[in-house]
Amino acid sequence: MKLEADVIVVGGGPVGLTLACELRLPGLDVLVLERRAERVSNSRGMGMHGRTLEMLGLRGLAQRFRERALPFSVGHFAVLDTRLDFSVLDPQYGVNLAIPQSVTEELLEARAGELGVRLLRGALVHELSQEAEFGQVSAKGEQGGAAFTARAAWLVGADGSRSLVRQQSGIAFEGNPASVYSLLGDVRLGAAPPAGAYTVVNEAGVLMVVPLGDGVHHRVILVDALRCREPQPQPLTLEELAEGARRVAGRDMQMSDALWLSRFSDETRLAAQYRKGRVLLAGDAAHIHMPAGGQGMNVGMQDAFNLGWKLASVVQGRADESLLDSYGSERRAVGQQLLVNTMAQTALLTAFDTRGQALRQLMNGLLRDPATNRALALEVSGFGIAYPASLSLAPDGCRLLEQWTGVRVPDWPLQLAHGGAVPVQCQPQSPQPSQQQASLHTLLHGGRWLYLRLRDDAPATVQAPGEVRVLRATLCEPVPGLEGVAALLVRPDGYADYALA
Ligand SMILES: Cc1cc2nc3c(=O)[nH]c(=O)nc-3n(C[C@H](O)[C@H](O)[C@H](O)COP(=O)(O)OP(=O)(O)OC[C@H]3O[C@@H](n4cnc5c(N)ncnc54)[C@H](O)[C@@H]3O)c2cc1C
Repeated sequence: MKLEADVIVVGGGPVGLTLACELRLPGLDVLVLERRAERVSNSRGMGMHGRTLEMLGLRGLAQRFRERALPFSVGHFAVLDTRLDFSVLDPQYGVNLAIPQSVTEELLEARAGELGVRLLRGALVHELSQEAEFGQVSAKGEQGGAAFTARAAWLVGADGSRSLVRQQSGIAFEGNPASVYSLLGDVRLGAAPPAGAYTVVNEAGVLMVVPLGDGVHHRVILVDALRCREPQPQPLTLEELAEGARRVAGRDMQMSDALWLSRFSDETRLAAQYRKGRVLLAGDAAHIHMPAGGQGMNVGMQDAFNLGWKLASVVQGRADESLLDSYGSERRAVGQQLLVNTMAQTALLTAFDTRGQALRQLMNGLLRDPATNRALALEVSGFGIAYPASLSLAPDGCRLLEQWTGVRVPDWPLQLAHGGAVPVQCQPQSPQPSQQQASLHTLLHGGRWLYLRLRDDAPATVQAPGEVRVLRATLCEPVPGLEGVAALLVRPDGYADYALA
């Protein structure tokens, strides 16, 4: 079987599917090769952070995810008692959604289907080759016993932590081997904690219990101080999980009916480069770490939102390949910080002795300071990510307001000089929304650039490596720091490229 596409994505997990949707939106022919014949059914990544939800909102998808999730306005850093307050970060997206990864993948796959992504299930890739002279990459594999060769101009490895794409491309995966081994079970609890999330941290270990969202089961995570330093070769049993949980909680939660039992570690690694020739990496293929604070899938999906429009621009001849280098520089820096943050959490989580508990007590106190709490909440939620090294698209001779370069643009309500956008209300009490009003993110649903002229003296035209929507608009409400801005160029992934004074 021969298959051709503009871009091949190896791996149809949350990152591969997000990327495929982003590439398909501007019209690319995208082929996803996924070895699993069926979608995964286990919960795995349960936490979706506000910035990821907001990025889904940039494409008009946030509501689909909200409808299938439990929202929490707080999160945690290393399970410290003083929680991180996400609610102060954004009025709409200051939440963390508890949503099983299986549901996230189901919704992404449905979206990919609507857009016309070709998803080939049961297709295991086992060999990769870059044919530089022909400007193409080939992936060989098999599906249902039949061999296939797929060819494309570009190939992205979103094939998880053991990434064949990364290995066959000779990209080093640098970092630290596992040192902490934890347990996980999606189980029924006969004696469940009263409501919401329940955590215990003491000298016996760390226990976290959260409802799975099906009204029946709970997710139980255990770092057992007695056993967490040694890898256990045998599969996890319900008895081992229940016995460890009993020691930490000091009571029996009567576990039964395990949907999923698994072990996971704190192995921490980062790809030495995110691109090699015509091959790129995203998600767990590029970064792995302890799943502390629920960040891996979130960072991976945001890799996809960063890469999608850039790769589409290159394929469509709107930008040269150097644009892809900004993917590596922007996202590898985020990956590096993710590793620092999760290693720090691991150190705090496994500080079981009296001195360690004292350190946790001290950290709890520091997190009561709103500024410190906000700083960590920004980091864990993804709202703090910025790309201050601009793509330098601003016209020569214009004065820039540097504080806006590379920062996330919130969903401001706008008054448009010309209609054509999805209406929203500036005044909540006004009876009918005006056709001249729109919220900023609705203007990005199509995945194009957005050039907002906020004053009449702003330049009327703009250069960008992609299709740009140009609109004359005013803000419905004043935004601090935006008073002096004449025009704002917003990237398809919702970050400002520049603001003109
Ligand atoms: C216990 C636990 C809890 C977690 N909790 C969270 C959380 O709350 N929030 C969060 O953000 N993250 C969490 N994570 C991390 C999250 O699960 C991962 O970061 C996420 O799955 C990465 O997505 P991905 O698409 O990059 O890789 P994967 O989900 O691993 O998907 C890769 C896909 O590639 C396919 N594939 C692999 N090799 C091939 C091949 N050769 N040919 C074809 N297909 C191939 C696989 O079948 C798979 O479908 C958690 C992880 C664990 C273990």
